[in-house]
Amino acid sequence: MALDQDTRTAFLDTLRRFVAERLRPLEKQVSESDEVPEAVIAEMRQLGLFGLSIPESYGGLDLSMEEEALVAFELGQCSPAFRSAFGTNVGIGSQGLVMFGTEAQKARFLPGIASGEIVTSFALTEPEAGSDSASVQTRARLDGDAYVLDGAKRYITNADKADLFTVMARTDPDRKGAGGVSAFLVPRRSAGLTVGKPERKMGQQGAHICDVTFDGVRVPIENRLGAEGEGFKVAMQVLDRGRLHIAAVCVGVAERLIADCVAYAAERRQFGQPIASFQMIQAMLADSRTEAYAARTMVLDAARRRDAGEGVTMLASCAKLFASEMVGRVADRAVQIFGGAGYVADYGIERLYRDVRIFRIYEGTSEIQRLVIAREMLKGG
Ligand SMILES: Cc1cc2nc3c(=O)[nH]c(=O)nc-3n(C[C@H](O)[C@H](O)[C@H](O)COP(=O)(O)OP(=O)(O)OC[C@H]3O[C@@H](n4cnc5c(N)ncnc54)[C@H](O)[C@@H]3O)c2cc1C
Repeated sequence: MALDQDTRTAFLDTLRRFVAERLRPLEKQVSESDEVPEAVIAEMRQLGLFGLSIPESYGGLDLSMEEEALVAFELGQCSPAFRSAFGTNVGIGSQGLVMFGTEAQKARFLPGIASGEIVTSFALTEPEAGSDSASVQTRARLDGDAYVLDGAKRYITNADKADLFTVMARTDPDRKGAGGVSAFLVPRRSAGLTVGKPERKMGQQGAHICDVTFDGVRVPIENRLGAEGEGFKVAMQVLDRGRLHIAAVCVGVAERLIADCVAYAAERRQFGQPIASFQMIQAMLADSRTEAYAARTMVLDAARRRDAGEGVTMLASCAKLFASEMVGRVADRAVQIFGGAGYVADYGIERLYRDVRIFRIYEGTSEIQRLVIAREMLKGG
């Protein structure tokens, strides 16, 4: 359900102020401490950020995809690590439940997810199953009234904080590929579930990823999400929405970098004039602006089509591919425009340069997006 125009404008204004006045001043601290302060998380909960995409009947804001994109454009204006604190609840950690959950599953988990009391994670990737995600080896064996899960997941966002995991596991070992995979809702406190130490990463300090290991974890049958063998379908539909969200965040970060570049180029003087007067600097600004505009337009078009009920698998991949590659180029030009200052930590540009690199990798690498786009183009051909 979409917000009325006044509520939408007021919500976006509030977010803009929250990002500018509360989050941006904390960027350096979060990057150095590798933690988003608990007080900030509490404010995010109050703003409703954990429940952006959860139906109103379960306490969420039930934003349309277009509205979620507008919110992500705003949130992209600060270190992407902040968004990650609630990003899994909005996207990959909750949407399987929203799209495929039974009434009982929704009633049990969604109110807590919407309020931020329950933090969620999405556990698909494994040491031997990354881009080839349909090859997951984590096993789910039916035993009486429960499935028994054994296996290991890798690089799981927010795993250290998660209370609930959506886990993809193989229920049919004789069936290779997607058809043998099912999805499960696995509470953190389940016996046999262990979470590893957060990995040290290139960027986005404050957002954590960990291994998750399942050693004979009993998951009641009623925690299976969708039918047996439908797990991959769950994962792919969740990722359609997630990819649009990530593309929108890329646009937000690019727009922030561009604003920083314009301000710096106007102020920094060389050869007796602002560097903004040099046409080679202007060309970089213009290229960045053009590409960010193109990405924003793609995201909004795909989001509106999704809201209208169209299948957007291909367009979501187009948007994610273009926007994530675009923000990489924009960040690279930003370092160049800032010169030495772009390489020095105090200015924050090198941090964003590192932060945005992951957007070309997770929720499907750029190569995988190209494969999805081509597959959709050639379908039925
Ligand atoms: C910060 C971070 C957060 C993450 N969060 C999560 C999460 O919450 N949940 C989760 O399940 N996973 C998560 N991941 C995992 C992420 O989705 C995977 O890392 C990603 O899908 C790539 O898989 P891989 O690392 O195994 O790379 P690989 O699949 O080994 O790919 C290596 C290279 O080979 C290329 N390649 C692979 N197959 C092909 C092909 N057929 N054609 C052309 N090129 C190909 C890839 O594009 C890439 O360039 C996260 C990862 C990181 C780093």
